[in-house]
Amino acid sequence: MRRLFIADLHLHSARPQHSRALIDFCQQRINADDELYILGDLFEAWIGDDVGIVTYADVIACFKQLTSSGTQVFFMAGNRDFLIGNKFCQATGIKILPDPTIITFDNQKTLLMHGDTLCTDDIEYQNFRSLVRDPLWQNQFLSMTPALRMQQAAQYRKQSKEMTAHKPNEIMDVNADAVTTAMGHHHVKLLIHGHTHRPQVHHLKSGERVVLGDWRGHFDYLSWPQGQAWRIIRESI
Ligand code: MN
Repeated sequence: MRRLFIADLHLHSARPQHSRALIDFCQQRINADDELYILGDLFEAWIGDDVGIVTYADVIACFKQLTSSGTQVFFMAGNRDFLIGNKFCQATGIKILPDPTIITFDNQKTLLMHGDTLCTDDIEYQNFRSLVRDPLWQNQFLSMTPALRMQQAAQYRKQSKEMTAHKPNEIMDVNADAVTTAMGHHHVKLLIHGHTHRPQVHHLKSGERVVLGDWRGHFDYLSWPQGQAWRIIRESI
């Protein structure tokens, strides 16, 4: 039995090779007694279950097969796919995890996050996040036609690109104090997150911070077999 962690696949219908890599990963590398944790930004964009389930029918079917075979699959929302909802869960058999979540594995408490809430220096983004995580905003957005939602999402992405183009790199990385605070608050010595696309294991005073990589060109996952040490595995797509 292993726990497997992935994040930031950013699946997009224009990049079918990434969906293919995920399907191969699920079919060839995951066993029925494994648990898979997806720590956000599985999709490049998710404007509602009604559209996403149809657009990513191959990925949905793959997850359904995986969970039907007994594998437990968990999903934590990222900043791209936070509108994933109940219909997605029903169609895939995936369970939603809140951000943050603490799991205990081999007696080690581990903090799981997407990672965007740690980027506290990016005030503009945090304001945007507060807006779009508001249930009222989400209900209003989801009540629009798919065409209008697509249009608005494209506009948000364009604005986001323009904003990030002018931001220094360190503003878009995690804030060191936010990491220390989160780890201290939850009494953990291990934090696993994605979001920044800067895969690395950071050895800190407060413990270890493992940043998962994205799935562009290669894919990273953290594998943690029961009773053994975890390790990061990187493979080519
Ligand atoms: Mn992200």
